[in-house]
Amino acid sequence: MNSIEHGNIISSYSKAAHFASIKHKHQKRKGADKVPYINHLIEVTDILINTGGITESDVIVTALLHDTVEDTDTTFEEIESIFGAKVAHYVSEVTDDKKLPQAKRKELQITHANSMSFEAKLVKLADKICNVREILDNPPEGWSNERKVHYFYWSKAVVDNLGDINKPMQKKFEEIFSLAINTVLI
Ligand code: ZN
Repeated sequence: MNSIEHGNIISSYSKAAHFASIKHKHQKRKGADKVPYINHLIEVTDILINTGGITESDVIVTALLHDTVEDTDTTFEEIESIFGAKVAHYVSEVTDDKKLPQAKRKELQITHANSMSFEAKLVKLADKICNVREILDNPPEGWSNERKVHYFYWSKAVVDNLGDINKPMQKKFEEIFSLAINTVLI
């Protein structure tokens, strides 16, 4: 990679991180600690780069933007106009349709997992690693162990349907899943 390409990638990451930080600025994660939402986006990006070894610009930008349409007033058109059609498409693949009931959305995540693009699957896998870790370390108030176990197994069903896409991240998910189940069931 030459220095111009390298500069373009850094520029995209920075633009996406800035965009996401503004869009999510009033939001906190649902855990009892009320962590700022942007922490989640940075964690997902970090897992992709430093566990998964993924540095492809469109994947990293998608990771930073993956919850903007689902959880803020951002539209796909807005994402396309700033970050391009490919990123808008990947974000759409990892965005739940909030008009559907939650149980249906959860079921669709499992059934849609294996038909997503490779790029969207990578983001989904990193997202699930972070979400399971978060429910383990900092669960929302009032979540019973039963509810947590249900969440962990649902996450695993989604990840299993993504297929064999990135060994280090799959291994990381298995480790966190096992730890989560063992911690909650003891
Ligand atoms: Zn997420």
